Amino acid sequence: MMTITNRCKNTNKVSKGKAKSQINSEEVQLLLKLMKYMLSDYENMTLTYCESDAQTLHLTLKSVSQESLCPDCGEQSVNTRGYEKRTVQILRIGSMTTVLSVLLRKYECRNSGCKRKIFVEQVPWLDRYARYDKRCIQQMNCISLLMSSTCASDLLSTFGIKCTPNTCINHLLSLDWIPDRSAGNVGLDDFALKRGHVYGTVIVNQDTHEIIEPVASRDAEVIAEVLSHYHNIETITRDRGKCYISAINKAVPRADAIADKFHLIENISEEVFKPIRPKFSSFRSSLEKKGLLAEPEPALENGWLIDRMYAVVQGMGTEKGRMRMVLWKEVNCLHNILHKTIPEIGDILNLKSRHIGRFLRTGMEDYMSDMQIGLNRQLKNIAAVILKHGTPEYKVIAKHIGRKLPSGWIARLLAPIRDVWEGKCKEYERDKKQTMAKTARKDDLKDLWRSFFIFGHLPKSKAAKLFMEEPGMKDRAYYCSTFQGIMSGKVKMSIAKWATAAMASGFNIIESFAKGIMKDYKAVFNATKYKQNNGLLEGTVCKIKSIKRVCYGRASFRLLTVKVLYNMGICRTTF
Ligand SMILES: [Zn+2]
Repeated sequence: MMTITNRCKNTNKVSKGKAKSQINSEEVQLLLKLMKYMLSDYENMTLTYCESDAQTLHLTLKSVSQESLCPDCGEQSVNTRGYEKRTVQILRIGSMTTVLSVLLRKYECRNSGCKRKIFVEQVPWLDRYARYDKRCIQQMNCISLLMSSTCASDLLSTFGIKCTPNTCINHLLSLDWIPDRSAGNVGLDDFALKRGHVYGTVIVNQDTHEIIEPVASRDAEVIAEVLSHYHNIETITRDRGKCYISAINKAVPRADAIADKFHLIENISEEVFKPIRPKFSSFRSSLEKKGLLAEPEPALENGWLIDRMYAVVQGMGTEKGRMRMVLWKEVNCLHNILHKTIPEIGDILNLKSRHIGRFLRTGMEDYMSDMQIGLNRQLKNIAAVILKHGTPEYKVIAKHIGRKLPSGWIARLLAPIRDVWEGKCKEYERDKKQTMAKTARKDDLKDLWRSFFIFGHLPKSKAAKLFMEEPGMKDRAYYCSTFQGIMSGKVKMSIAKWATAAMASGFNIIESFAKGIMKDYKAVFNATKYKQNNGLLEGTVCKIKSIKRVCYGRASFRLLTVKVLYNMGICRTTF
């Protein structure tokens, strides 16, 4: 079989005149076409050398250009002065790492006013001094944007692109961007570069949800300087940090500042709930010790036992027997208690008077089997034994009643009673375990929190319900949940009215929170007026953190900015 490889091997012999070419002209055309596609980027070049060793393909391209422009004065030159050799790496061709030697033409600048005498022509696919062609760099950037430089370098080497982690970073750092500061609705939030020490600020576009730019500081001065370049701002969301408030007042005083609802609720929750949390947990554990949280333990009780056992005894007979017992009961009830006459009873139950007469003459036991009669007569005794020993266990009952009744009868009576009783006990144990579990404690705390800070939420758990009865709790919860209601739009009360009431509430914490609200009144009011909030920022900051952690030791602010902007910011579309 003559494969393409074998036929190509034949090429050497052909070139030395020792053999005849085995490739037909049609195949030659196709191979040429293939090469043309592969090298389509390299215009005005001719292939002068092609050799491979093991895994690397070496190609030499030579420029055939006739003229070029001087990079200094821009004058056209046609005076060629030899070649300059450059070695660059390009994307893999087939399965082989490919190294390209490029011979670029040198030209002489004839412009007497120009300092430069000799210059090298420039080609569109290769930057000056670059060691990789543009396509190769593009691929490197795509990969190193998504992962750490070390990972990117490892991955690229499997694609036949040899580069160190530092090369990956340097290429990213040379990327450029111009922040688009024309946005009308923006948001500000801070994020940690070094937690507790260095913080940066991120500005996002609230309409497109894209990051406009990260800023390497959260100082009021710096932020004000950056914000002063935003000329179209209408609304700006922010948390209640002092630096942002003063930066916005200084740079964009005409914009509507919007305080962040999430942080407002978080602030009031943190302040009000902090002292309540330990109180509630000790309150709950004292309830637990007293056994007030768990359902009462199920107890055997005379009336319940007799009713149950009577139902079991009734159910023991035949279908016909059961029907007759029901009728006997109804007839006797109508006659003896409601004092109806026989014809009246006949009308009600649709029975003949002789049948009614028979029901009145006979006793209930006439319609029972021996077993039913025997058990029925002993029901009270059996119930007494069960109550005395606290269990419907067969062995215990048989010991005391066994002489009066056959043991099989007792077993048939007790089996259903025991099943019901055991079911009740199991359910009780399960409930008890649930209330004792740690998760139940957490759930109760969550329930209490919701009763405090979610408008319209009523406590569901017993502990939270009882705790809300403690002095002052309902009032505190009223102020907090109403504030949440105003924020979420469920309550149609103005913030000012709420704050006035809260400032006279008598609870120090709520009063000081209300005072804080009044200081930042306009922004808090805007929080209820506009739909924008800082939720978008929280998610953005979280993503920035993950990018930061991927670069770990090497995350200079510029590198972080490039990664953030190209992955999720305004430059996202340019790749
Ligand atoms: Zn020149």
